[in-house]
Amino acid sequence: MLGLMQNRPLLISEILNYVERLHPEREIVSRDPDGIIHRTNYGEIAGRARRLASALKGLGLQPGDRFATLAWNTYRHFEIYYGVTGSGLVLHTVNPRLFPEQLQYIMNHAEDAYVGFDPVFTPLVESLAPHLPGVKGWIALCDREHMPKAQVANLICYEELLAAAAPDFVWPSFDENTACTLCYTSGTTGNPKGVLYSHRSTLLHGLAANAADALAFSARDSILMVVPLFHANAWSLPFSGAMAGAKLVLPGPKLDPESLWMLMETEGITKALGIPTIWLNFIAWVEANKTKEEIARLKLKLVGSGGAAVPRATIEKFRDLFGVYVLQAWGMTETSPLATTGAPLAKHEGVAQSELIEMQIKQGRQVFGIEVGLFGKDGERLPHDGASVGELKVRGNWVISGYFKGVGGQVMDAEGWFGTGDVAAIDPDGYVRLTDRLKDVIKSGGEWISSIEIENIALSHPDVFEAAVIAIPHPVWQERPLLIVHPRPGRTPTKESILDFLSTRIAKWWMPDDVVFVESLPHTATGKLLKTELRKTFGGQLAVAG
Ligand code: AMP
Repeated sequence: MLGLMQNRPLLISEILNYVERLHPEREIVSRDPDGIIHRTNYGEIAGRARRLASALKGLGLQPGDRFATLAWNTYRHFEIYYGVTGSGLVLHTVNPRLFPEQLQYIMNHAEDAYVGFDPVFTPLVESLAPHLPGVKGWIALCDREHMPKAQVANLICYEELLAAAAPDFVWPSFDENTACTLCYTSGTTGNPKGVLYSHRSTLLHGLAANAADALAFSARDSILMVVPLFHANAWSLPFSGAMAGAKLVLPGPKLDPESLWMLMETEGITKALGIPTIWLNFIAWVEANKTKEEIARLKLKLVGSGGAAVPRATIEKFRDLFGVYVLQAWGMTETSPLATTGAPLAKHEGVAQSELIEMQIKQGRQVFGIEVGLFGKDGERLPHDGASVGELKVRGNWVISGYFKGVGGQVMDAEGWFGTGDVAAIDPDGYVRLTDRLKDVIKSGGEWISSIEIENIALSHPDVFEAAVIAIPHPVWQERPLLIVHPRPGRTPTKESILDFLSTRIAKWWMPDDVVFVESLPHTATGKLLKTELRKTFGGQLAVAG
């Protein structure tokens, strides 16, 4: 017997209808690439999104066509999220930090029809245009006064396009499984692969992101969206934040600590979300530049961190200096991305801070709607006992079922599991502890050494700013760990002091065979340590046998 409840499609336009009616005056604040603070609200954004939808229809775009963006976190980029998806088109957010060859590949592969770009990306756009024959027009995200002199065919002014468009676009209704956004994974090897989200997956993911033990946004929150709109739908913040009617603060391209501090202070930020490197730099700057009293005046309550492991020291510093909880989240472009979050359980109430930190440095528990599982080398299920280590697999309504255009073939097994390529243990409470990427794990004498765990411990050394551990070939043990350290400014740690520090904290056979010091570590376009690059530079480092 079927239930007798209404069945309405889960569409992104419903979020816009909601905020327009219930939170029209709630602010969207953004710092434009030229540094100017711009204030608007959900009511105005909804109107402009409607105009954009009319304009795109006028340009001849048909449902399913791809509209790409090369843009920072600004209000225009935010309204494009809604104007494009609400009208049944697909928004392809492109990471401008990728290499030009990768950009050409993904934009051709996606068959982008129009591209909206921040004027600061004009040189990039000019270099890409000759290689993108399918692009019919380039829309500069600015008004007439700021139009760049870009040498591209069919250059359009965004504000003029909107001004000339009909304001009364009616959001169409369609199948909730229709595609809405497209993001390419920044694979470190091979070509990037497209992850195509649906309206249904996006709304379910947004609702889950707002659960109390996830990001728990409310109408009282002021959210600093440090995570870029071009990275995995900015972790759903444009959707989950709006579903809550929260104020959204978009920092544009300036993610340096001082600029972020300024927004935290002036915009009453309660929740800030970004990757660990951002927080690492932020804390170092705050420690050097701000007093306890100034820090105490912030309204910050929660820092969300994901995309890479959060160092213990970052969690401790936010607790001690700010009185703020760091909520670690784990996910991937392929999982929309939110899959697990590190919220405490009732049993953590009143436990010692050190015990709480042990929980916080893990990647968290699955949110409702996602299932995580652990699998051994032969595909056998491993117990969630906190000790067994294997590949982490996930399934759920916002997990990928296949890459765009079938690239990479079958990605789900018969039971619907998607292999993440991450290596982890899961404890009996369900907290996932990531130990590595399958390709980064150090295979020493038939055992696995976790690069992430050694990095995390090295980061607790007072002279270490950032650390990376890679595998280097070894004649006897097959692979051994090499620790690469970027020291804190003004500090000159020695190899011996680092190894002494590690020796009391990790097993003897996990001890790095060598430590090298560098002035900076390379990162990927999404802020992860670029270990392929490190392996190229230091792969032959080890000379010791034995
Ligand atoms: P991306 O698709 O670019 O978002 O990258 C996803 C990958 O980032 C995951 O498979 C993990 O390897 C890594 N990652 C994401 N969140 C975390 C986290 N909290 N701790 C450690 N690694 C993470």
